[in-house]
Formats: sequence, structure tokens, C-alpha cells
Amino acid sequence: MKFRLPILFGVSILFALGAYASTRAIDPQKSTDSPSANKDEPATKTKSVPLSKSKKMIDPFNKLTKDEADVILRKGTEARERGYTHSKVTGTYICKRCNAPLYNSTDKFESHCGWPSFDAEIKGSVKRQLETDGSGRIEIVCENCGGHLGHVFADEGYTAKNTRHCVNSISMKLIAIGKELPEVIKPDSEKDSAAASEKKEPSEPPIKKSSK
Ligand SMILES: [Zn+2]
Repeated sequence: MKFRLPILFGVSILFALGAYASTRAIDPQKSTDSPSANKDEPATKTKSVPLSKSKKMIDPFNKLTKDEADVILRKGTEARERGYTHSKVTGTYICKRCNAPLYNSTDKFESHCGWPSFDAEIKGSVKRQLETDGSGRIEIVCENCGGHLGHVFADEGYTAKNTRHCVNSISMKLIAIGKELPEVIKPDSEKDSAAASEKKEPSEPPIKKSSK
């Protein structure tokens, strides 16, 4: 009994010293490793985020109001009897988004459908594509920027050309005859503009829902 107490005391001191030594050995390693790791992580994160954001925000075309974007970018339909529906002003109708000449006023006619009607487009300015809503209608878009214009119908017998481009006034701007046409804004590249318009549409779904 007399021997054991000092031995136990000595052993416990050795354990305590060992434990203390081990914590001293680990702590400095942790403290030197963790700050360097923390420095690297935020640096790489802040570098990558602004780059990807700035790429998506590039849009070379004219700025659009919400009403203009609803029709031109989100394929909405303007209310009847607006804008140029009954205009007799002679001139050139250009794309609101990119300034590309789309229609001559000499091809405009009164269809009484509620929207400006043309029986021909300026050659090469308007692209036809099957409407995606399953209605079988043919959508017309600006050949240069892809902006939505309206729909085209055939065999209605309005004019000798038997064609009616039913166009939203808000998609166009009339430049009266004698006035200089603004410069056409070309997309950076055809692939980029198509990808940009595709990305924009799903990012603003509330407007699509309300229009239905
Ligand atoms: Zn355009």
C-alpha cells in the first residue's frame, strides 16, 4: 500500500504530460493548415461567380419595355386595334429590337382583323416557323434577331398575294419616308443570340402564366 500511491501518482503525471504533449503537437499543425485552406476556397469562388454572370447579361439589341418584351421575347399578343393597325403613313416598318427593316407601308392593307396586316415582307427579313403551341399556326419572327412579330396566314383571299402577315404593332417601329433608317444591330453570333433568347424565356415564367 505504501508503494502503490507514489507509483499511481507518478503514472498519472506521466499520462497527463503525455496528453499535454500530444495536444501541443497537433494544435500547431491544425492552426497552420486551416488558415491556408480558408484563404484558397473563397478566392476561387469569388473569381468564378462574376464571370459567369457577366456573360449572360450581354445583350447588344435595343432595350425593351416590359410590354415590348412580353410580345417580342415572350411571344405574347398585343391587344387589338393598337399602334399602327389603321396607319396610312408611308414608310418602312423596322424591328423594335434590332432595327432591321421588315415591311414596306406599300404592302400594308386593311384586313379589319385588329392588327396591322401586310401581304409581303421585305425580302429575307422575316422567318417563318411552326408555332410551338400545337395550333398549327405559322409564327413569324425577325430574321436578324429572332424577335416575335406575329403569325402569317394564307389563302384568305384578302389580296392578290393571298397572304396576311398579322403583326403586333409593338414589335415594330415606323420610320416615315424621307427619314434615315437607323443602323441594324447585328447579333454577336447567331448561336449566342439563340442561346440567350432560350435562356431568358424560362427565367420569367410568371408573365407566361398570367397571359393564359
Ligand atoms: Zn429584329
